[in-house]
Amino acid sequence: MPEIIVKPKDALSESRQAIYQAVELSRRAAATMWEAIENIWDQKGTAREKRFKRLQAWCSGNSPDIEIFRKYLGVSNGKYLPGGPFLSYKELKKVRRKVGWLKNKLLQETLRFKIRNGDATAYNLWFLTRIVICPAFFDQTKIEKASTIIHELMHDYPIVHGKSIFNLKDYKKCFCCEEAVQFAIDQPCKARRCAYNYEFLAQEIMLAHAME
Ligand SMILES: [Zn+2]
Repeated sequence: MPEIIVKPKDALSESRQAIYQAVELSRRAAATMWEAIENIWDQKGTAREKRFKRLQAWCSGNSPDIEIFRKYLGVSNGKYLPGGPFLSYKELKKVRRKVGWLKNKLLQETLRFKIRNGDATAYNLWFLTRIVICPAFFDQTKIEKASTIIHELMHDYPIVHGKSIFNLKDYKKCFCCEEAVQFAIDQPCKARRCAYNYEFLAQEIMLAHAME
């Protein structure tokens, strides 16, 4: 596995271990998320049939993992109304690209962290080269820590909290789990560009697979 660099050099070994464990868990979560997407991607037929089957598997298939994806990333391009309109294939491909990117980032790239004081749990701006970890991070559960790392990594994609990456005000916006779920119903295209939606999605995937 690629290297995990934690700074400062004299950071407590306890803090270092907590970050390593969280990365390990987030790697498993991302691999499981990718597998779920690949399972619906693997369809037989003509190109047109494959597209249809993939969309159908996303919008109404009975895979428990995809059900969690639907909950946090939505099933439409606009406000969801029962009966449609449903997600476009272009939007589904974008989701696949993001999840694939996340998995590769976690499993193939060197990850850099810096522990420092601050009010946030952790933060990352698209122009930074490392994730900043603040004291509150260490009070989180293992699953929360892992999903926080996923949230911060998504800022590198770069996606923020539903709006433009150039809008710093948007960085300060916070969502709880229920708000992320509602966001996926009301503004699904934005929810798919919101790091909180991936954070809570990853949390639920980890819980569903009893990861710890
Ligand atoms: Zn964020």
